[in-house]
Amino acid sequence: MKKIQKVVCVGCGVIGAGWAARLTESGIDVAAYDLERSSQKRLNQVIKNAQKAYQKLYDVPQKNRGTLTFSTNLSEVVKEADLIIESVPERIEIKQDIYSQIENYASSEAIIASSTSGIKPSELQKGMLQPERLLVSHPFNPVYLIPMVEVIGGALTTQKNIKIVCDFYDSIFMKPVHLKKEIDAFVADRLLEAIWRESLWLIKDGICTTQELDDIVKYGFGLRYAQMGVFETYRIAGGDGGMRKHLENFGPCLKWPWTKLTDVPDLNEDLIELIVSQSDQQSKGKSIQQLEELRDDNLVEIQKGLKSNNSGVGKLLNEADKALKRRSHTEIN
Ligand code: NAD
Repeated sequence: MKKIQKVVCVGCGVIGAGWAARLTESGIDVAAYDLERSSQKRLNQVIKNAQKAYQKLYDVPQKNRGTLTFSTNLSEVVKEADLIIESVPERIEIKQDIYSQIENYASSEAIIASSTSGIKPSELQKGMLQPERLLVSHPFNPVYLIPMVEVIGGALTTQKNIKIVCDFYDSIFMKPVHLKKEIDAFVADRLLEAIWRESLWLIKDGICTTQELDDIVKYGFGLRYAQMGVFETYRIAGGDGGMRKHLENFGPCLKWPWTKLTDVPDLNEDLIELIVSQSDQQSKGKSIQQLEELRDDNLVEIQKGLKSNNSGVGKLLNEADKALKRRSHTEIN
């Protein structure tokens, strides 16, 4: 089966730069492409952020970084690519236009993986010459510190291509989860959107501020989710009776009017202003870069705790450390 050696990141915003950082730090050669030359600055900053975080996260320093080039010329960069990761804005016409350009220049073997947050791959494939090469690999921000990637094929994607991409992500110690059916917004964003929608109601109805809501997450259930997910957490909540008892206890509540469920509040100027002003107050003038640094430091320390317990993402990081140690041992000998 084909081995992925050269990756092209198309679009170098928040997500594309994050992909480039994770890949180069995993020893993969990356060619990055963006319409805007100014994106290179952000790309370099994100690579620096990743290197800083990895120095603390891994026991063994990365000696074999992949190479990184940046270009504003698509035809030049995609020629040699085995995998093209597309992270351009979430607009289907922009993405489809990029695919038709890529198909003009890339090898017929190259696989295209879209980072879309929710557009079904079967929609993205429409109009492609080789739709079997397109799939979605949906990452999480910051891509270099969060290993999860949802992989979804469209109606015409081959299983072979899905396997190549999942094996590749496994090999760089990400955690690919292949969803067997495509749905709008996949799994993670469905969950996140439910929380987001409910959060907007809670602010709009004046129940809590953005600060209070975030405290409820940070000091409460948010702490649980990095080490056990929804189902294992609720299994424990059922006490010795486990999941069955939990469903008996809390199942009926789902029929009570506890949540607003799928109604969406009107994001009018008043609500936008309320949320933005509360959010400004909450962040106390910290810049996005300062917040990103704080986020990275926190994510590193949380994951190091999980490494000590060899649990959740910590298990994956210990496996990566072992592989890095084996590799540096082989190089010395
Ligand atoms: P972004 O706006 O930060 O970056 C988009 C980049 O694409 C910009 O650098 C822009 O210059 C470039 N671009 C625009 N049109 C282009 C074109 N035609 N050719 C090449 N480059 C072009 O967006 P983002 O947040 O990085 O999102 C990119 C994709 O990743 C979207 O599909 C989004 O849904 C998905 N995604 C975003 C997040 C997130 O948290 N931001 C998480 C997961 C997935």
